[in-house]
Amino acid sequence: MKVSICTNRKILLECTLKNFDYQVDTYIGCEHYCYYCYALAQAETDWSKEIHIYKNIVNQLDKEINKITPQTIYMGYYTDPYQPCEAEYKQTQKVLKLFLEKGFSASILTKSDLVLRDIDILKKMNSTAVSVSVAFNDNLTRQLFERNTIDTEKRIKALKQLKEAGIKTGALVCPVIPYITDVVQLINMLEPYTDIIWIYGLGIKDRLGQNWLNIQKILNTQFSDLVKQIKSAIFSKEHVYWKQLRENLLELKSDRKLNLNIHL
Ligand code: SF4
Repeated sequence: MKVSICTNRKILLECTLKNFDYQVDTYIGCEHYCYYCYALAQAETDWSKEIHIYKNIVNQLDKEINKITPQTIYMGYYTDPYQPCEAEYKQTQKVLKLFLEKGFSASILTKSDLVLRDIDILKKMNSTAVSVSVAFNDNLTRQLFERNTIDTEKRIKALKQLKEAGIKTGALVCPVIPYITDVVQLINMLEPYTDIIWIYGLGIKDRLGQNWLNIQKILNTQFSDLVKQIKSAIFSKEHVYWKQLRENLLELKSDRKLNLNIHL
């Protein structure tokens, strides 16, 4: 993986998510290279070969956050803050240390257990949360759709350790791929270690976009017996698959008093 310095650009960006005014992505590009990733459409480099980092993330971000009041910053919107090269480049860890020094907190979304390395920093923040996203029940299927991530069990173990350390935890079941993702099984695995679980279906906006081209190829070659029904559900939120799943999840939520946030 080539890691090169990007041209000057702002690090602290306004965030469109509810409850957050600002977001920071510590890398431009993501080595995890999930084939369904919506950000692939805007990728400036081929993420399987090259990603960018900022020239001096701490100095630049320090100047940018000095203009706002201390608050919780969202990390992991466009790219994963704990993708494999973070072990060497420590861009995320440097940012967290800066946040702590300046009285800020972080709300992190990742697919990696590397976040455990920074537990001691996260524990000292006023209001921090770590969420982990998962979409596959078995490793073989995960490897088809996610080129460079760790398995679901390791992500759940990380959630367990974070929760035991007193950190607020969440999970994102995303993207639910119709007839492939067993959502209820994932919820059962995640629920003991999470304060909240969000559930999102696979959304394809552009049928010529890189993510849909990637997914189509996987479906055609690996799920040829299901491909017709999977495709019909992907492009219609009124499909019986989603209707049935919504009903099942609402029932589960009510029966077991689960904190599920269903976006299907
Ligand atoms: S981890 Fe997230 S940002 Fe990275 S490739 Fe996968 S979906 Fe995209």
